Amino acid sequence: MLFSQVKGQEQLKQKIKSLIDGNRFPHAILFDGKDGYGTLAVALATAQYLSCTDRQEGIDACNKCMSCKKYSKLIHPDLHLIFPTTTTKRIDKNNESSLFIAEFRDFVQKYNGYPSLEDWYIEIGSENKQGVINVRDADKIISTLTLKSYESPYKIMVIWNADKMNTEAANKLLKIIEEPYEKTFFILTTQHKDMILPTILSRVQTIIVPPLDNETMYAAIKEYDSNLSEQEINIKIALCEGDYNRIRQIDSDVEAEKVANFVEINRLAMMYKKSAKDISDFVDVFSKTTRNQQKDFLDYFLVTIEKIWRYNNGVQLPCHPLEQMGDKFKTNYPKFITKNNIEPIVKVIEQAQNNIDHNANAKINFFDMILKLGYQLEKR
Ligand SMILES: [Zn+2]
Repeated sequence: MLFSQVKGQEQLKQKIKSLIDGNRFPHAILFDGKDGYGTLAVALATAQYLSCTDRQEGIDACNKCMSCKKYSKLIHPDLHLIFPTTTTKRIDKNNESSLFIAEFRDFVQKYNGYPSLEDWYIEIGSENKQGVINVRDADKIISTLTLKSYESPYKIMVIWNADKMNTEAANKLLKIIEEPYEKTFFILTTQHKDMILPTILSRVQTIIVPPLDNETMYAAIKEYDSNLSEQEINIKIALCEGDYNRIRQIDSDVEAEKVANFVEINRLAMMYKKSAKDISDFVDVFSKTTRNQQKDFLDYFLVTIEKIWRYNNGVQLPCHPLEQMGDKFKTNYPKFITKNNIEPIVKVIEQAQNNIDHNANAKINFFDMILKLGYQLEKR
């Protein structure tokens, strides 16, 4: 991956290049931002630039040397990729990154350096299990570090979605991140910095990867679908919130379903006292979706509620927060979100998310969530 292939992020790219050119690049760094902001793309471009034998300082890796050629296929022997895995039909025990490396390389290239964790789980057939970076990955990292590098002066460990590291793995890595082997770089990415152990956080330098700016999103959306009108592009820019991966997600039926479910859940919640049967019917269907889909939907729910709250407080948004949801709902629903219930509503949804993580019974979880939501909406 070249810096020129990383979308937007000009300031960030400049900063990284100047750190590397000035020999000030930290041995352990954490890129903090959503996958769709380009955290992995930035991590891979950084690694390629570090490793390139003929880099053009301040500009980019050469894209011609042996190192760059191997990096373009992610097969450089001194680039080590670590990422969350689960057991699957093929790997039914002792899952670890190295057993999925061929799939991962193809997967990252298929998405041009902008993959999402949800897509990865689908790709490997995780069947609803949450991925983890486990102690076998940590052991592999440690044993790799004790070997000499093969071709490059540097060994580079890229750890994608490092917050998926379990405690055992993190504890094993602490020491080598603190006192690294010579000529070794750790490049971590995360979408949930708060879920990384503080002991790891204190040993890495965190660099924020911000959402993509509107200009970059405009170009990316146009490239994705050249038939869109200016207004459609602008709505999409607003809905994507600087997240490149959302451009394709938003397009799909999945997005339409999220909108429909948002409306339906709120409609049911508003009459929760007399609609137990309807809620139960809805929940029966909804609870059959995968856990990842449910979590994704609740993320969407939170983002939408937050937008409505900002909108109600006079914050200028590029378009109405409920743009896609029928006129009546669009006009009425925002009135139900007030200072009396915004915080409790967020808590209700977060609790439901938490319950999914803890494998709670989906039907009970969502039934309960809708009742509690109804109770809060009533208190507006
Ligand atoms: Zn090169």
